[in-house]
Amino acid sequence: MPGFELFGEEEKKQVAALGVGAGDEVIMPAFTFVASFEAILSMGAIPVLVDIDESLTLSPAAVKAAITSKTKCVMPVHMCGSMADMDALVAICKEHNLILLEDACQSIGGTYKGKHLGTIGHAGTFSFDFVKTITCGEGGVVMTNDKEVYTKSDAFTDHGHDHLGVDRGADLHPALGYNFRISELHAAVGLAQIKKLATFLAIQKKNNQILRSYLKQVPGIQFRVVPDPEGDSGSFLTWFLPSQVHTEKAIAAFKEAGIFAGNFYWFANNWHYIRKWDHLKNATSLYPLSEAQRNALIALQHADFSKSDAIMSKCISTAISLLWTEEQVHEKGAKFLQVLQKTLS
Ligand SMILES: *Cc1c(COP(=O)(O)O)cnc(C)c1O
Repeated sequence: MPGFELFGEEEKKQVAALGVGAGDEVIMPAFTFVASFEAILSMGAIPVLVDIDESLTLSPAAVKAAITSKTKCVMPVHMCGSMADMDALVAICKEHNLILLEDACQSIGGTYKGKHLGTIGHAGTFSFDFVKTITCGEGGVVMTNDKEVYTKSDAFTDHGHDHLGVDRGADLHPALGYNFRISELHAAVGLAQIKKLATFLAIQKKNNQILRSYLKQVPGIQFRVVPDPEGDSGSFLTWFLPSQVHTEKAIAAFKEAGIFAGNFYWFANNWHYIRKWDHLKNATSLYPLSEAQRNALIALQHADFSKSDAIMSKCISTAISLLWTEEQVHEKGAKFLQVLQKTLS
């Protein structure tokens, strides 16, 4: 992958290296991990949260509707192993002269029309947090084909040092930076993990397909829209039931049958969906936020996310384990099928 270098605290550096800062608006989805808005806020910029669509990623129509004279950047998040509609988002960013920054932290190895997720916009990120497809304990990467963004990221991550000479103590500081370094030990583990990525993806995709073949048999179940099915990394299988009531019933039945572990109902989850981000909506910060940031966050209390709610409230994601044997996936699929047929009938 081009411009590949290991860093920690990936998105913050990226937002900074792209020149996004005080007062700039960054359009991002209401379904993501909290890290996405943290990165924007930490640079003084304003996260503008908008609806997702059945792809579970940024709705291009919602992005268009949210553009103002202050918009500087659009940040799609490739959630749960699959991707946003990149053609539509690239076109919007070109038309409005906006930076396109991909949060690909959950979708390493995924592709869109032959290009790796994270390499389509001006820059992209992967996380190597403990739960991701590959991990080195902590940290992540910034990817870019833009030499300037690369050089700025490299300095920003290490106190602004320019890294030009051989004497580290004599480095100059082209701009302010901070310490977002990953350790060399973590990076070494990361390099070893990258070599295993292709094997991991093959297992993920195979297990995903087997499980899908069972769920497909349940009348009324639909799968998440994947803009390029070939490029799905397979880390999750995400499916929709006909309604919130059906979904809650299915979850209760899964729990009763002891098969809910590894399934996620994001609608009721604290980490990934706006509905439960009270700290964000109350602008609960340990230090004073700018007035513009505070106002934008408080406004989220009354923002309309009914389109996203309608999608998220009937959505379940099943995490695909690399450890399942083929026999176990078939067993799991058969159990899912049995419980769902009974619940939905
Ligand atoms: C994991 C993740 C991140 C990054 O989290 P870190 O803890 O900073 O590595 C960012 N965005 C999404 C969508 C994630 O899932």
